[in-house]
Amino acid sequence: MKRNTGQDRSITKNWRPATQAIRGGTMRSEFGETSEALFLTSGYAYDCAEDAAARFNGDQDGMTYSRLQNPTVQMLEERIALMEGAEACRSMATGMAAMTAALLCQLEQGDHVVASRALFGSCRWLTDTLLPKFGIKTTIIDGRNIDNWEQAITPKTKVFFFETPANPTMDVIDLRSVCDLARSRGIVSVVDNAFATNVLQRPMEFGADVVAYSATKMMDGQGRVLAGAVCGTEEFIEDTLLQFTRNTGPTLSAFNAWVVLKGLETLDLRIRKQSNNALEVGKYLERRVEKILHPGLPSHPQHNLAMSQMEAAGPIFSLYVGGGRKQAHALLNALNLIDISNNIGDSRSLMTHPSSTTHHGLGEKARLEIGITEDMLRINVGLEDPIDLIEDLDQALSSAGL
Ligand SMILES: *Cc1c(COP(=O)(O)O)cnc(C)c1O
Repeated sequence: MKRNTGQDRSITKNWRPATQAIRGGTMRSEFGETSEALFLTSGYAYDCAEDAAARFNGDQDGMTYSRLQNPTVQMLEERIALMEGAEACRSMATGMAAMTAALLCQLEQGDHVVASRALFGSCRWLTDTLLPKFGIKTTIIDGRNIDNWEQAITPKTKVFFFETPANPTMDVIDLRSVCDLARSRGIVSVVDNAFATNVLQRPMEFGADVVAYSATKMMDGQGRVLAGAVCGTEEFIEDTLLQFTRNTGPTLSAFNAWVVLKGLETLDLRIRKQSNNALEVGKYLERRVEKILHPGLPSHPQHNLAMSQMEAAGPIFSLYVGGGRKQAHALLNALNLIDISNNIGDSRSLMTHPSSTTHHGLGEKARLEIGITEDMLRINVGLEDPIDLIEDLDQALSSAGL
C-alpha cells in the first residue's frame, strides 16, 4: 500500500538534519495543529465496503489497522528516515524489537552472521543464543580489526552486525572499511547506531545498508518511553522487513511514537550539550581514576577513528576505578546526585556497573574477553551542570576510599 506522508518528499528531502528533526514527516489534520497530533486508534472506518476492499488490495491509499499503519507512528518513521538520509524507516516497540526484526527478517536456516563481540547485552543473546537455535550460524569477532571480518566470511555469510561506539567498552568500528567489505561481498551490513544517533554519526554515508536504533536512548532522551527503529532502502523495508513485522507485530504504540517525535525536536541540542558535558566530566575522571575509555579523548586508543566518523563523542563512556566489584559498588552507593541506573541517553546523569547489571547475562568469560572487569563503571552524562557532576563524583570516589 502506498503511504501518503502529507509532505512532498522532493522538497523535504533537501532540508538539513536539524530542520528534519523539527519538521520532517509532519502531517496536519483539518484543524491545522502545529504540534503533531496523537492518533490513539487501533482501527479505521471506511466509507463503503468497496473502499475497504480497495485498501486491502492496495488500489486505495489509506490505513487499515494500527499494527500496520498509524498517522502518529508514520510521522515519526518519516522524520527518522529524513534525518538519517535513508529511503525508508519503520519504528518498533523497543530497540530490541528493532534489532531482532532487522536480523530475522532477512535470515534463514543455514545462513551465517558475523558480529562484533562488543555488543549490547541482549544483542549478544540474539547472536549467541537465538540465531543459532534457528540454524543460523554466528561468528563473534573483535570487530576493531578489519582482517577479523574478512577471515570470518564464509560462502553463507549474509549479514555483518555491529555497533559503534560499543556498549560499554567504547570500542570503535571502522564504518567505512567494514561496510565496504560487506558490500564488496554481497553481505548486508546492519549497524546499531543507538549511542551516536544520526545527529553525530550517519552510518549510511559510510556505506551501511541497514541502521537500527533503540530510540529509548538519545531519541526520546528523557527516560520516558521505549521505542526502536530500522532504516534502510525502500526495497529492504517494504519487501523484507515489513513482511516480517506486519505479521509478527512488534509495533510501536502511537503514544510512544508521539513522545519520541517530541524528543527528536531537541535531540540535536541535547546530544551536543551532553557530549560537551561528558568531555568535561571525562577530563576530570581521567586524572582521578585508573583508566577511562572515552572516544572523545586522545587517551582512547581509537580516538582518531572515532572523530573521523562522529561529529562528537556522545554522552556515554566507561571508567575503571581499580580494585573490584566492592570498590565499584561503593562508589555508586556514595553518589548523591547521579542516579544508579542502567539506562542511557537520558538527560539525567546515570551510572551503572555493567558486570553485575547490563552484561551480567553474558557470563564472566565473555565479559573479560571484551574488557568488562569488576571495577568497570559506565556513565551517561546528562544535562546537569558538569561542575555539580564532577563534585558528586569526587565526593563519591573519596567516600569509597578511591
Ligand atoms: C538499549 C540498547 C538496545 C536495546 O534497546 P531497548 O530499547 O532497550 O530495547 C540495543 N542496542 C544498544 C546499543 C542499546 O544501547
